[in-house]
Amino acid sequence: MAIPVLNTNLVTGTIESEFYKEGSRKLPVREFDVIVAGGGTAGVVAAIAAARQGAKTALIEGKGYPGGTVVEGGTALHSFFNLWKAFPGVEKRQVVKGIPQEIIDRLLLIGGTTGHAEVTGRIDYDSACTSIDTELYKLVVFEMLAEAGVDIFVNSLVAGAVKKGSAVEGVITQSRMGRELFRGKCFVDSTAYGDLSAWAGAEFIELNDHPVCNSMGIGNVNIEKLFTYLTKNNAVGDIAYGLRDGKEGQIIRMGSESGYLIRNKLPKEFVDGIEKLGSGLITTTVHDNYMMFIKVNYKMAVSPTNRDEVAKAELIIRQNQFKTLELFRKYLSGCENAFIARTSPSLNIRRGRTITCDYDITSEDVLQGRHFEDDIMAYGFHDEAPRLQIKNGGTYGVPFKALRVKGIDNLLAVGMMITSDHHAHMSTRNTVCCMGQGQAAGTAAAICASKGVGSRDLLYTDLKDALLKNNVYFES
Ligand SMILES: Cc1cc2nc3c(=O)[nH]c(=O)nc-3n(C[C@H](O)[C@H](O)[C@H](O)COP(=O)(O)OP(=O)(O)OC[C@H]3O[C@@H](n4cnc5c(N)ncnc54)[C@H](O)[C@@H]3O)c2cc1C
Repeated sequence: MAIPVLNTNLVTGTIESEFYKEGSRKLPVREFDVIVAGGGTAGVVAAIAAARQGAKTALIEGKGYPGGTVVEGGTALHSFFNLWKAFPGVEKRQVVKGIPQEIIDRLLLIGGTTGHAEVTGRIDYDSACTSIDTELYKLVVFEMLAEAGVDIFVNSLVAGAVKKGSAVEGVITQSRMGRELFRGKCFVDSTAYGDLSAWAGAEFIELNDHPVCNSMGIGNVNIEKLFTYLTKNNAVGDIAYGLRDGKEGQIIRMGSESGYLIRNKLPKEFVDGIEKLGSGLITTTVHDNYMMFIKVNYKMAVSPTNRDEVAKAELIIRQNQFKTLELFRKYLSGCENAFIARTSPSLNIRRGRTITCDYDITSEDVLQGRHFEDDIMAYGFHDEAPRLQIKNGGTYGVPFKALRVKGIDNLLAVGMMITSDHHAHMSTRNTVCCMGQGQAAGTAAAICASKGVGSRDLLYTDLKDALLKNNVYFES
């Protein structure tokens, strides 16, 4: 049982007109309506939505590019659709649209995605496979943020929070320009780790219920040869065909997770080896001769907010990536001359802090396909399918109250940090759900800022109207 903890790393000091006094230091002050902390999967969409709503918006991102885990961790973007294929007779519905779909449209124009390809192999997991070129995704969302008028502060860490009563007044950033105060009216925490919420004194738990991972891209792979080899050994699980390097009908998702699918089908030394390394054999690709994501998982003994333990894990995972590559080269036809083409700059987490919000989505909510009076989106994918699926291939709703950080008037949490229930989180944490949450949070933050109200005084009809105007899809 995890114990709720309160973080004490709250910055204290006084705000003066032209600077903020932090101890003996005078920090420059910047003023915004909406401040989005973390320019990842959800944060990018939140910032675009807030700026388009007319808010003067700052996006503060620790790395040199926006994108987050969607460009570093997973295989496919799960999922813009309901699980229609697993439920004969159920209608195919695109249940996430809006800004997330715009990103895909932009990527399509420059060959940066497979599009929404239908899965033809293992259809009880996801019905559609949307895969992205990670580098072009970074570029496209960077451009979309700029076009929306977002002030983008990359290479800047959110390092603290300034509070006034139960509201956040500003965030302290740390960059090579030193420390600064970003004052705002409404804030979105999309740091994945829940850094801003923690600095602002929000309640949180650290469940440490997932392995961390560094996914690597492997180049110089003959995808067709590998497919032939897996087929010959009856070891193909997932398979989808879509756009690859401009050509339709190409393999864009393929593989078998280690374990039940490939045990006794592929050489024992290979299966034992990759299992021990926390790796697997499932990938997507947008390009010929390339496997975009090969995961190398590692279960840490403590939460990945522990920097010192993370340092050890970073090295172990990189060693395991190389060992995985060696196994691929040795045992997999088509991979004889493969090399590591990219890795994530640092390991990725599936969960850091879970921030306590006004509502905690439960597994029952997800599996029963519940909708709420304050839905901000619909979602229909579960990462534990087919064992756990949303009833009848339908959707559940993410309620606005699940984003409102408990006890803080003007702070919304989005992405992997919401929902303490492990099985609910196995749905809500997926990329497309995070993106949808981002659009709602950014829109809500902008409305709150313009009306001068806190997140609990926001009229739901104002939020829903704005989301509908911006192509967000709702179901009841
Ligand atoms: C290995 C792995 C595989 C996965 N596979 C899939 C998959 O196949 N399909 C799928 O749909 N989902 C998958 N997921 C889940 C999904 O990718 C994530 O849950 C989702 O992308 C999280 O989005 P987010 O916005 O919460 O966080 P992120 O996208 O991680 O964004 C957080 C951002 O905040 C920044 N940041 C953090 N702290 C600070 C700070 N203090 N100051 C400034 N910036 C900060 C980070 O640099 C990052 O850009 C996978 C996840 C992992 C780890």
